[in-house]
Amino acid sequence: MTSSFDVAVVGAGIVGLAHAWMAARRGLRVALFERHAAARGASVRNFGMIWPIGQSPGQRHDLARRSRELWDEIIAATGLWCRRRGSLHLAFREDEWTVMQEFCDRHGRECETRLLTPDRIREIAPAARTDGLRGGLYGRLEIGVSSPEALAAIPRWLHEQLDVQVMWSTPVRQVSASTVTAADGRTWSAERIVVAGGTELAALCPDSVRRLQLSHCRLQMLKTEPQPNGWDAGPLIAGGLSLQHYPAFSDCPGLPALKQRIQHETPELNRFGIHLLAAQNQHGEVILGDSHEYGETVSVFDRVEIDELILREARRMLNLPSFRITHRWHGEYMVFPDPACSIDRPEPGIVVAVAPGGAGMTLAFAEAEQFWQSDAAW
Ligand SMILES: Cc1cc2nc3c(=O)[nH]c(=O)nc-3n(C[C@H](O)[C@H](O)[C@H](O)COP(=O)(O)OP(=O)(O)OC[C@H]3O[C@@H](n4cnc5c(N)ncnc54)[C@H](O)[C@@H]3O)c2cc1C
Repeated sequence: MTSSFDVAVVGAGIVGLAHAWMAARRGLRVALFERHAAARGASVRNFGMIWPIGQSPGQRHDLARRSRELWDEIIAATGLWCRRRGSLHLAFREDEWTVMQEFCDRHGRECETRLLTPDRIREIAPAARTDGLRGGLYGRLEIGVSSPEALAAIPRWLHEQLDVQVMWSTPVRQVSASTVTAADGRTWSAERIVVAGGTELAALCPDSVRRLQLSHCRLQMLKTEPQPNGWDAGPLIAGGLSLQHYPAFSDCPGLPALKQRIQHETPELNRFGIHLLAAQNQHGEVILGDSHEYGETVSVFDRVEIDELILREARRMLNLPSFRITHRWHGEYMVFPDPACSIDRPEPGIVVAVAPGGAGMTLAFAEAEQFWQSDAAW
């Protein structure tokens, strides 16, 4: 194996894989370094939702759509499991229904969404409770993957098909112009280095963390046992709380009233940034989440209270045959003030690439593609 590469990528999360893929696609010789024996960061702890509907219509939505096409490509090439049933936001309250109608009026065509009646929801979404349901916003574009499976299969495929050299269990201690140094002192040379270290960026590139004003967001998640008898949940599901979470809905005139009502009725949900998402994986398990706690001083310990609130919301909106929880975990990603600014250049030949907050699975491929389309990016 050569110790000299065109490109070295540090971190085998989704951002690192995206950069390794796009660089190798251009015919460059790429090495990918991962601290652990397998990816263990945010990229394996998420819902696996490829979620264009969460992105602001326009440029961000287009980027998410492009990423989804790239996911289609990699799913076809690797044989990854994928849930292609779209997304469904459920409206149990009049103000939620109003925002969904406003969204559809404004962006329905571009975002490929339409409104569904409770009767139609009953037909396509066994996971949705329909008592008290006002209607739903269906999105055609959203897909679900199994993140742990994808994050294992993609590096294998990159190696087999594009000759990317993947160095597992290789913590990088230092990057400097043209050199990557591992914790054990081994060095590799590379003309271009991409650092995609997720929440651990500060160890390698502290100045970039300061410049991009990165801070942490911590999320709690739950997973049910496999649902019995091959029960199928239907689309990926979001509740009305998600309307105040995703920027896609921010220009809907009814949003301020909805936010006010949520804050008035259920401040405990806002306190922990809780909204309900549900995704069934290929084993029949349903992943439920999530919460959002921001800053550097958030407790490292999972809060039972948060899990209980997520489950309370899940039971209110979902009709799962089994709510027996078998797994609980948390994940973290970096957030920053300017979502369009996810790249920093600490020195010539080195680029720091940060996932766009809670949308790395949705946007990383297209963001990396855009980056590698131009040599000027370096
Ligand atoms: C609970 C949760 C749910 C989410 N759900 C979704 C979702 O459904 N859809 C969506 O689009 N996004 C979702 N996200 C966001 C998405 O998961 C993140 O944006 C994305 O995974 C971040 O990817 P990353 O590659 O930057 O970081 P990571 O996945 O954390 O990867 C960084 C990698 O770098 C390695 N590394 C760090 N330092 C070094 C070093 N010095 N040497 C070698 N290796 C190193 C780490 O070991 C790690 O494997 C969710 C996030 C969380 C936490």
